[in-house]
Amino acid sequence: MRIIILGPPGAGKGTQAKRVSNRLGLPHFSTGSLLRKAVSNNTLLGKIAKSYMSEGELVPNPIIIDLIEEEIEKHKDKEGFILDGFPRNVAQAQKLDEYLEHGGKQLDIIVNLEIDEETIIERIKGRLSCPKCGKVYNTKNGYYERVCENCGTKLEQREDDSEETVRNRMKVYLEETFILVDYYQKKGILQSISGRGSPDEVFERILALID
Ligand code: AMP
Repeated sequence: MRIIILGPPGAGKGTQAKRVSNRLGLPHFSTGSLLRKAVSNNTLLGKIAKSYMSEGELVPNPIIIDLIEEEIEKHKDKEGFILDGFPRNVAQAQKLDEYLEHGGKQLDIIVNLEIDEETIIERIKGRLSCPKCGKVYNTKNGYYERVCENCGTKLEQREDDSEETVRNRMKVYLEETFILVDYYQKKGILQSISGRGSPDEVFERILALID
């Protein structure tokens, strides 16, 4: 099964993609996580991506497309994947379609998480993540410990979760990514659900769609 989790920043794409990936035993590719890893390892990719990310801008398409195709290729023996954070604009979506068609494959379902701006800001303000393993926590969900329960690393706020950058990320989402709702609706593979509520509640909604 090939699944994309779509939605604005803070909609819970990463959290849900991870859960779906565990449930279905499929690899989870998150361009944001791959880029953050590259930044923390100070690779050439990380050096290029850093300035775009800290402004909340999109990293240029050719870089992202190479990155995601490489990841999919690495796991091509698997029966699908879960994507989160990719595609982010029509050019990326078209490239993904071309790439899959070339291998005689196609996307099965796009899960679009709908959520209002107020909830997004609330969630992002309380978001903490582990810089080592990437696990995400939210003080809003009652998580106040400051170390990762997986690996004991001190939790941090993402640099691009500052209020100013979040506003720009929302603007970029509306200008470039939101149109993908229409793009996938026209292909008949879009399913929109509410992204409000607890991670468990949202996950139940997603499972109902996938089953
Ligand atoms: P995310 O973790 O998905 O919120 O992504 C964090 C940041 O990484 C974004 O604000 C962008 O700067 C960059 N990024 C992630 N995915 C993409 C993508 N598909 N295209 C361009 N930039 C991306």
